Amino acid sequence: MTKILIVEDNEMNRDMLSRRLTRKGYEVIMAEDGERGVITAMSDGPDVILMDMSLPIIDGWEATRRIKASAELRGIPVIALTAHAMDSDRDKALEAGCDDYDTKPIELPRLIEKIERLLAARKQARRRP
Ligand code: MN
Repeated sequence: MTKILIVEDNEMNRDMLSRRLTRKGYEVIMAEDGERGVITAMSDGPDVILMDMSLPIIDGWEATRRIKASAELRGIPVIALTAHAMDSDRDKALEAGCDDYDTKPIELPRLIEKIERLLAARKQARRRP
């Protein structure tokens, strides 16, 4: 089962997204700030991370930079989630090392497509010698 880590400080957003992904057959784990997000990625080894960018303790950009600086974690795809559909936000997320980007409110089919595309790409990269 695909394990998704949701890093989101807003309880309502977190619970709603978790419920919807669980219903689609994903295993969901959660963290409510950037620091816990990095720690949970280390301890629970998710297949993909959905990263809110505006987070307490450390923000999503910094959490992503830490994940991508770690040899154990850098292979985990990170999808940035922000409230703004601005190009600058997208660029900033990709610069921090995010593998993809999506905007809130979440459109679940679109998000799942991005998740599955990244998982397929990762599987293919692993198969290469
Ligand atoms: Mn937030």
